[in-house]
Amino acid sequence: MPFLDVTERATEIQGLIAGAVARGGHRQEVRIVAVTKTHGPDAVEAAWRAGLLDVGENKVQEALDKQAALSGSRPWAAEVRWHLIGHLQRNKAKFLDRFRLLHALDSSRLADAVHAIGLQNGEPVNALLQVNVAGEETKGGFVPSDVEMEAVRLRELSGLRVTGVMTMAPFGADESELRRVFTGARAAREVLARAGHPARELSMGMSGDYLVAVEEGATIVRLGTVLFGARE
Ligand SMILES: *Cc1c(COP(=O)(O)O)cnc(C)c1O
Repeated sequence: MPFLDVTERATEIQGLIAGAVARGGHRQEVRIVAVTKTHGPDAVEAAWRAGLLDVGENKVQEALDKQAALSGSRPWAAEVRWHLIGHLQRNKAKFLDRFRLLHALDSSRLADAVHAIGLQNGEPVNALLQVNVAGEETKGGFVPSDVEMEAVRLRELSGLRVTGVMTMAPFGADESELRRVFTGARAAREVLARAGHPARELSMGMSGDYLVAVEEGATIVRLGTVLFGARE
């Protein structure tokens, strides 16, 4: 039975996060999203046993498959809060009612599609604006200079509730680059808040960089490898 030590790792990570909050001085609360992608439903169970009720998947279908595998036979599964952390195709926006939070609102066209779903469901969809601080070609999201204009436009979309910002640092970035990216995400959250959005969340930090992210104010860290080991 793998994943037996997830609880131990979670406890250790929570201690490290508390230290990073103290060093950073932002006094924020930090939630861990346990990223279970590529692992089976037993990883979700291990997270739940560790008290990590927020679970992240980057593909809609994989998340739906795990939800289906767990529903019914596992009463505790109803407590799991599912986060969609990867790119969402517009034709899959209809599945957003299965998720607590969409982390990767990465284009105006997706925002329009999500808004339509929110209206249809009679309940706004909670989403984070993905900001591509480093301007990487290979990553989605809004470049910082576009955030202000989009923030104003998004105010018109009542089917959408923009509760913060998500970002990913470039792979292999050194510490000063990490801090520049995370500070840029924090600034983007300010822009959203000034435009009238209830933008409180900063989803940033993965296994390799979460402590720097927390020092820079992350309220959500998305952790896979440090909890469950390397993916195949
Ligand atoms: C896979 C993934 C993570 C987790 O990555 P680790 O380095 O394994 O912690 C976080 N965020 C996103 C968007 C991911 O796709």
